[in-house]
Amino acid sequence: MNIAVIGTGYVGLVTGTCLAETGNQVYCMDVDADKVAMMKSGQVPIYEPGLEILLKRNIKQNRLFFTTDIEEAVASAKVIFLALPTPQGGDGAADLSYVLKVSKQIIQYIDHYTIIINKSTVPVGTAEKVREILSAELPDHLFDVVSNPEFLREGKAVEDFLKPERVVIGTNSEKAIKTLKELYKPFQNENSPILVMDERSAELTKYAANSFLALKISFMNEIANLSEILGTNVDMIRKGIGTDERIGNKFLYPGVGYGGSCFPKDVQALNNTAQVSEYDFKILRSVIEVNKLQKQYFTNKIIQYFDEDLSGKKIAVWGLSFKPDTDDVREAPAFEIIEKLLEKGAEIHAFDPEAMDNFKKLMGDRIQYCHDPYEALQEADALAIITEWTLFKSPDFKKMKKLMRRAAIFDGRNIYDCNQMKNAGFYYNSVGRKPIS
Ligand code: NAD
Repeated sequence: MNIAVIGTGYVGLVTGTCLAETGNQVYCMDVDADKVAMMKSGQVPIYEPGLEILLKRNIKQNRLFFTTDIEEAVASAKVIFLALPTPQGGDGAADLSYVLKVSKQIIQYIDHYTIIINKSTVPVGTAEKVREILSAELPDHLFDVVSNPEFLREGKAVEDFLKPERVVIGTNSEKAIKTLKELYKPFQNENSPILVMDERSAELTKYAANSFLALKISFMNEIANLSEILGTNVDMIRKGIGTDERIGNKFLYPGVGYGGSCFPKDVQALNNTAQVSEYDFKILRSVIEVNKLQKQYFTNKIIQYFDEDLSGKKIAVWGLSFKPDTDDVREAPAFEIIEKLLEKGAEIHAFDPEAMDNFKKLMGDRIQYCHDPYEALQEADALAIITEWTLFKSPDFKKMKKLMRRAAIFDGRNIYDCNQMKNAGFYYNSVGRKPIS
């Protein structure tokens, strides 16, 4: 099948590459000329495990092409995927300007039946808006608009695309359903259904999924905070409830609050949808509020440990990306935590295996970026662990203690065992567990 993918970020590039892998001819288009040049030469501009090998293979076998020219991408396409940004707008609503602009741009190149597939996360009613734009200039038989939200996780994006837990197709067009089923067939197994529904339900499904996951995180953060007051152990509580199949054991990890390019904006956007529909989505408002407080809660622990004055204190930070296995720092909790520590006078020495370049683009040189985790610890008064990269999970504690001025660890991700930290002689403050001193 001839396929065009407009927007080659985390979603678009993975979608395009994986669809080429199953034998389709895929043109990926992006306005970012530097990115396109990189991809053309077989380089992946993002950190996404497993992507480069697929990208190189499909370029070599002439199934995957990159361009900045929208006409080249869409002219002979049977399906056009829109994988464009939908950032948070001023009022919390999703900014649809990218999606609507490209919808207008493609009209002039559509002269045969084409399916426009929205992969971006968009509010209910967006497929209708795209259809209206196309209908103004094209007869109805020339196109269908489908909502096909993406559920991949950064860091596991290739795996998730190749083995999805489900595919959601939102449309009433039998023709479009048939084509999409054909396209997704190679990725199906008996445990991964293709769910066909109306487009509005498909659009809401994506927001409901992300908001529910965010809710699980905020709930566990509240249980953790209460645990600290009651002297209970959130790890045991997590295991105690996670073994209940109705609850499940995933996404029950408390921490420093959720971040990333999706949860914060999607929860806000769903709340905005509720507001304009004059529905007070009380739980969602609390999810947002708890998440904001959780970042402050973690930072305050460090500030209080140093009696509110961090001037002259050197704080090592391990982890800057919003989660491990990605270089994505969008809405990463590290920004807010570090800003607050700087405001209190601290000097920050940070290390992240993949995200330092992206972090530096936004934070600049106000902090030191280190070559490895141990360099960040030299003469440090404390270590703050913000992202649970595997690299941080079994360090050389003796070496750490020797390097640090003060053996104090604030672990925002509970990556160490409390007894182990006691034996190693650290002050150890984690989330929802008794501090070790
Ligand atoms: P991204 O920012 O990584 O990529 C978007 C790409 O679109 C960029 O490369 C940008 O240069 C390009 N672009 C912008 N304007 C363009 C235009 N007019 N024409 C062509 N290209 C243009 O975004 P992303 O993370 O891939 O997310 C895309 C959408 O998918 C968003 O709606 C997001 O919410 C959703 N989504 C993201 C994830 C994720 O994990 N990142 C998962 C599921 C869904």
